[in-house]
Amino acid sequence: MGIGSLGEFGFIDMIRSKIGPLPEGIMGIGDDCAVIPISSREDLIVTTDLLVEDVHFLRGDISAWRLGWKSVAVNISDIAAMGGKPLGTFLSIALPKDVEPDWAEEFTRGYMDISRKFDTPLLGGDTTSSKKAIAINVAVLGTVPSGKAKLRSAAVPGDLVCCTGTLGDSGAGLEVILKGYSRSSVEEFLLSRHYEPVPRVSEGLELVKMPGVHAMMDISDGIGSDLVHILRASGVAASIALDKLPLSSQLVDFCGRYGLSPEKFAISSGEDYELLFTVSPSCRADIEGFATVIGEIREGEPGIEYLKNGKPCGQEFKGYVHF
Ligand code: ADP
Ligand code: MG
Repeated sequence: MGIGSLGEFGFIDMIRSKIGPLPEGIMGIGDDCAVIPISSREDLIVTTDLLVEDVHFLRGDISAWRLGWKSVAVNISDIAAMGGKPLGTFLSIALPKDVEPDWAEEFTRGYMDISRKFDTPLLGGDTTSSKKAIAINVAVLGTVPSGKAKLRSAAVPGDLVCCTGTLGDSGAGLEVILKGYSRSSVEEFLLSRHYEPVPRVSEGLELVKMPGVHAMMDISDGIGSDLVHILRASGVAASIALDKLPLSSQLVDFCGRYGLSPEKFAISSGEDYELLFTVSPSCRADIEGFATVIGEIREGEPGIEYLKNGKPCGQEFKGYVHF
């Protein structure tokens, strides 16, 4: 029996059970970032993510520029998920000998372009060789006002469930790659959402200022899986209105042509890197304009009930599970 029998989250729980108590005020495993108080004004927040060739990307499919961009984007997204401001990154990379210098140059250009866009300079890292696969680990440091980081554990019954942007585009982009669909401007849009995610830093910085915003995280594995993290951490249940999901016209068009379900992409496919948060209903007006209300937090066992036109529709959706 391999590591699959333990599961991704089983493995993380096993590590977690062996750590022992942390110094007072420090929050470790369990949220999008660790939170470390550093002054009376600010907390340091830290996150890291690993991208492995043939698991997270195919070298022949994604351009080196886009891979450089995405390696930073997915990490900055975890800083945005706490309502934080990114400060700087560290890049550790393992490169097999057959990687061309041009590839390395383009990768670096993509990495630097997003670093400049978010004013988040590369501060260090490590470089090593690899037998076969490229492995890329980025760590990002950020800050958040003292004690104000938005956690997964803060949802309360009655909260509205909201998300930024549109959902499912990235998953549909992946479908275009996997099925080899021909590429019009609609498919190119979906592919760019898959390859060039833009972390929601400015939205996170707005949301962190609002006391009525309770729990928050970024959507990396689809809300069908990610919302459950908020529900478990907060000890609550939720309903999601399938008819309220924010869908791009491109996703609807693409799904219409191939007989696919846009709702299924919006819920079960990964890598949207939008923000998912809960907010007190009295603050609804504050989030209008940059977020959509898609459901409600309720009392109960952690789990999602899916509704269509207010009625349970019994559809089962799951997010992406790594192993
Ligand atoms: P995200 O999708 O936001 O990056 P993950 O689902 O990857 O979060 O991880 C969930 C939590 O588990 C995070 O707090 C992360 O720091 C922690 N974690 C994941 N893998 C490990 C590991 N190998 N060792 C310690 N902590 C880990
Ligand atoms: Mg995250």
